[in-house]
Amino acid sequence: MTVLASGSKGNSTVIASSKTRILVDAGLSCRELLKRMAVAGEDPAALTAILITHEHQDHVAGLAVLARRLKIPVFFTEPTHRAWVRMLTPRTTMSYAKWLDHVQAEKEERARAVAAAQALTAEILAEGPGSRAQAPEGTPDEGVELSGEADPDFELPAEAEESCEPGETRAAAKADPTFLPEVEYFRAGHEFCIGDIDINPFTIPHDAADPCGFVFHARTESIRMAVATDLGYIPPNVKQALRGVDVLLLESNHDLEMLKDGPYPWSVKQRVLSRVGHLSNHATAEFLLRDYDGGAHTIVLGHLSESNNLPALAKLAAEQAIGERMTLLGNRIVLAAQHEPLEPICL
Ligand SMILES: [Zn+2]
Ligand SMILES: [Zn+2]
Repeated sequence: MTVLASGSKGNSTVIASSKTRILVDAGLSCRELLKRMAVAGEDPAALTAILITHEHQDHVAGLAVLARRLKIPVFFTEPTHRAWVRMLTPRTTMSYAKWLDHVQAEKEERARAVAAAQALTAEILAEGPGSRAQAPEGTPDEGVELSGEADPDFELPAEAEESCEPGETRAAAKADPTFLPEVEYFRAGHEFCIGDIDINPFTIPHDAADPCGFVFHARTESIRMAVATDLGYIPPNVKQALRGVDVLLLESNHDLEMLKDGPYPWSVKQRVLSRVGHLSNHATAEFLLRDYDGGAHTIVLGHLSESNNLPALAKLAAEQAIGERMTLLGNRIVLAAQHEPLEPICL
């Protein structure tokens, strides 16, 4: 597991076996994600797929441009995909019938883009190397008015992303900012696999269309890793899912006192505190104390709020909850950061 970024300004984590590499969420600009991957020693070209937990900006900000650049499939639940499409095209009201038409049109557009790319490749091959100038400047991935709820201190990346967008998909992207090279659907509670990694998606309580956490099981290595952030509380299905994992990325979003006294407007405080908001240090510690099976090698505390938490407070609460179960071989607690990748956790 390599956490590239974690927090309300952007989330992205690589989960990899020896054969398969999955990017969970793409909540920074494409450019910033590529930068973080370089810092962390991750080769973007080696990524197999992108997997999305939910459609909030801090989880999808760079998704479209990155997926188009890497030409890899994006795995969503259908409601999450639909909510994301609606978020990027806010002026459109879309009935379910219209949505189905949209999905069909996307499929056709994808086929056209593939055919165009193949034709271009054939043309270049026929012309021989060096005979073709650079692709013309395209339109940056801007002009997209983003709405939809996001974490309150999320800001859209300021830098232009045009250099991330491959020439052959720019036209399709201009016509449809939600254009993706390939979309796959999964459903919460239904296991599926990407390469040699089995994935168990579980529903989490959060104010998004169909938010999910994941347990990843690398079949050949017999290792299990889980990602569970953005949840208002830990319901029984999540407690159940998190049993027997070797690495657990768990939210420890805010300190209750800091949130109550902090800068957020009252309505946002209520949202964060609600059953569909975020886990406090206290709630996470309660889980670690009462429900967690103690079997993980490493617990990564993530999605820490920069306004309403301090790394030291989150760590202290978790360490107190783990108590004497913390050893050299197990229950190491580390903090994922917002602005730099975490040292890869290799088992
Ligand atoms: Zn989030
Ligand atoms: Zn969220």
